[in-house]
Amino acid sequence: MENSIAFVMSPFVRKLYEAVAVIDRRQPVPATKWNISVLPIGIFHQDECPVKECHICSEIFEEEDKLRILPCGHLFHRACTDRWLGVSRLCPLCKGNVVELYKQWRTQHASDSKASE
Ligand SMILES: [Zn+2]
Ligand SMILES: [Zn+2]
Repeated sequence: MENSIAFVMSPFVRKLYEAVAVIDRRQPVPATKWNISVLPIGIFHQDECPVKECHICSEIFEEEDKLRILPCGHLFHRACTDRWLGVSRLCPLCKGNVVELYKQWRTQHASDSKASE
């Protein structure tokens, strides 16, 4: 069986674009490289993580996979998330605007630490 990159990639890319089109009927707005780079990265550990699969590529996480954690609390493979956010800044699961949520989280975090001073 031919297992070329095109064979592997095309259903993924099609699914990605279809999902983005459903989420955001307007032109999807990508996140910038900076927007993506500030999002925390976690390492998957089977015992600790309640989420077992990546909803972007539908694959089960493997021990020590690198995950990107979105401010809405959803997490996906780091590579999948970065590719997704390069197309649309909306979380594929909850449709939250990752860039806005991150700004809110930052503001909240900043005022929290001021309040405790
Ligand atoms: Zn994935
Ligand atoms: Zn989400």
